[in-house]
Amino acid sequence: MKVLVVGAGGREHALCWALARSSQLTRLWCAPGNAGIAKLAECVEIGAEDVAALVGFARAQAVDLVVVGPEAPLTLGLVDACAEAGIRCFGPSAAAAMLEGSKGFTREVADAAGVPGARWQRFTDPAAARAYIRDQGAPIVVKADGLAAGKGVVVAATIEQAEAAIAEIMESRVHGEAGATVLVEECLLGQEVSCFALCDGEDALPLGAAQDHKRAFDGDEGPNTGGMGAYSPPPVFTDALRDQVMAQIIKPTLAEMARRGTPFRGVLFAGLMITADGPKLIEFNVRFGDPECQALMLRLRSDLLAALLAACDGRLADVTLRWDPRPSLVVVMAARGYPGAYQKGTVINGLDRAAAVPGVQVFHAGTVRGPDWAVLANGGRVLGIGAVGETLQAARDAAYQAVDAIDWPEGFCRRDIAFRAL
Ligand code: AMP
Repeated sequence: MKVLVVGAGGREHALCWALARSSQLTRLWCAPGNAGIAKLAECVEIGAEDVAALVGFARAQAVDLVVVGPEAPLTLGLVDACAEAGIRCFGPSAAAAMLEGSKGFTREVADAAGVPGARWQRFTDPAAARAYIRDQGAPIVVKADGLAAGKGVVVAATIEQAEAAIAEIMESRVHGEAGATVLVEECLLGQEVSCFALCDGEDALPLGAAQDHKRAFDGDEGPNTGGMGAYSPPPVFTDALRDQVMAQIIKPTLAEMARRGTPFRGVLFAGLMITADGPKLIEFNVRFGDPECQALMLRLRSDLLAALLAACDGRLADVTLRWDPRPSLVVVMAARGYPGAYQKGTVINGLDRAAAVPGVQVFHAGTVRGPDWAVLANGGRVLGIGAVGETLQAARDAAYQAVDAIDWPEGFCRRDIAFRAL
């Protein structure tokens, strides 16, 4: 099997790492990849959003499977373009990827499928939105309907804050046209969990769950980021809860998407609130989260390539996945200044020392090789230091021991990953 992975982050490094263990794999490419991925795969200089060039490469090399990491190429129709070219591609079609692109669409699908979630209403008129907010009371959640770079959500503790959010999103259009329509939602209370399922359009297999840390600094302070760390499984996510999520959220959503003529294949990522009334849906994403993917791949014992092929071919009903029962944890190391302005090209030393810590796996998220083969930072989030341990505490100790072995003065990380569970 010749496989092409699309993307350049820690998620794609973890996918390449898992795919590289498959006995079926004969050749692995990654477009565009990074310095860590280059140890496992041949990196190809094609951007993850250059659909035409990716399809051209896959055709020229007779690639058997394309695996798409990030959401952008999915929304741009990479899976559809591969299908037209007769190339197997793991991920949802552009139509099915709408589950991530519009919050209103997601809520419509979820309601039609009977998926438990927050009470919600959609508004294009600010006055009507304000009246609804006053009627419902606080706390309440205001969301821009469209993609707002992950920033279009305000969890308002008071009616005044919610009304201010309406003014900013709808009237000042701080997120542009994404704010032309807003959703006002009931505020769900509980623990947040990210839950992943491998889907073949009809059937789904649980891929595990994780909790992540979106804020930049310890104690959940500071600005929102792409994710500063994750661990799996979250102690709240019992086997019974997993079965409930599959039965009440994932499978009904698959059935509704199929009924609409846009069956969902790929990874369905459900952002859930575990409330006193059970799990409720906050949002869907249509791909693995990053760094959650790193935490999940550290625990997967089955052949990932075989599972992805089965998902593409509608054969998931015949597949079972085996998992390491031990917990995993990932600490993200980012360039100082991230998620604001940061420097690129700083030198990272000590990666081999870090990787030698028992139980540790170092994933690269944003690195390149310098002219003298030094590893250089090349992004905001730069490394994912993953570890598996007999206990979550042991995994965390190993991960931080590896972090401390890395010599990179221009980097930083949170020191409290998994604090909720410990
Ligand atoms: P979203 O972009 O929809 O995932 O929202 C971003 C974050 O806002 C989520 O991860 C939650 O922490 C929070 N959030 C969104 N919707 C709700 C809700 N209905 N109730 C409570 N918190 C929410």
